[in-house]
Amino acid sequence: PYDVLVVGGGPAGAAAAVYAARKGIRTGIAAERFGGQVLDTMAIENFISVRHTEGPQFAAALEAHVKDYDVDVMNLQRAEKLVPGKDLIAIELANGATLRSRTVILSTGARWRQMGVPGEDQYRNKGVAYCPHCDGPLFKGKRVAVIGGGNSGVEAAIDLANIVAHVTLIEFDSKLRADDVLQRKLRSLPNVDVLLNAKTTEVLGDGQKVTGLTYENRIAGQRHTLSLEGIFVQIGLLPNTEWLKGTLELSPRGEIVVDAHGQTSVPGVFAAGDCTTVPYKQIVIAAGEGAKASLAAFDHLMRTSAP
Ligand code: FAD
Repeated sequence: PYDVLVVGGGPAGAAAAVYAARKGIRTGIAAERFGGQVLDTMAIENFISVRHTEGPQFAAALEAHVKDYDVDVMNLQRAEKLVPGKDLIAIELANGATLRSRTVILSTGARWRQMGVPGEDQYRNKGVAYCPHCDGPLFKGKRVAVIGGGNSGVEAAIDLANIVAHVTLIEFDSKLRADDVLQRKLRSLPNVDVLLNAKTTEVLGDGQKVTGLTYENRIAGQRHTLSLEGIFVQIGLLPNTEWLKGTLELSPRGEIVVDAHGQTSVPGVFAAGDCTTVPYKQIVIAAGEGAKASLAAFDHLMRTSAP
């Protein structure tokens, strides 16, 4: 069995594996897709001390760093079940194998909910963006839309209004769902328009990048076109935790509930990064949380005896 078994190979999982291996304990990492969300990212300019990198290059660096150490790397392996135990925790994989470990660190990340309209896939990273903290500065002085009128959409619109020339916030429903204080702030901004009852129907582009979008007014039934350079989709971040339902405590949004040490509701099971309740989903935060959960797992091992 392992001392530390990490499930998930993004920035959180890679950091957890490196920190565990550096303690000289038996460490494994199983990941469906080593690298995680950064594989789908273009420019990364906010991982402090790295002024600029590209997602695939960053993912390769994560894997190389883990492989510098004595870690069992099991790529292309999907975990399907976690079975708590007194001494050993079991992780069942989709391929039928079962891995056992004294501690487990869950770092399965999250995925952005997509609009599911034509053009969205084609123009991802070419104007279609999901993270205002990451990509906002790329649209300095340009026109953008934010899709979604919940807290994250309205926060994104307020944030972007500071950087870009103009923001159109598009909400499907007849009203915004964001907190009142955010809505008041939004409406005080001179360069923001809000469209309600608006269903985005297509992302438009010139083959290279986004040039606009079409939406339908759900009351009048008419179609309209907006010319713009960027579209921020803010209709939900879904944690990859469906397989854990019923085994440990999840928040109403499906995030793994962790304390300040990354401890979950199951002894010996820790979690880190975008799959948890930690606020703000960013690479630098996920990596820090992975390191923290790994040190907490090591602490747990010191206080328990090997089976
Ligand atoms: P993830 O990166 O999501 O990794 C999760 C890992 O778990 C993957 O290896 C996945 O395959 C694996 N996994 C999932 N389910 C299972 C399972 N059941 N069994 C086994 N393995 C599983 N952040 C920034 O700081 N700067 C940026 O510029 C930036 N740009 C972004 C651009 C895009 C397009 C996207 C989508 C995100 C961006 N982010 C950016 C956010 C950043 O990528 C995430 O915050 C970060 O990757 C989270 O790391 P993580 O390790 O928690 O999870």
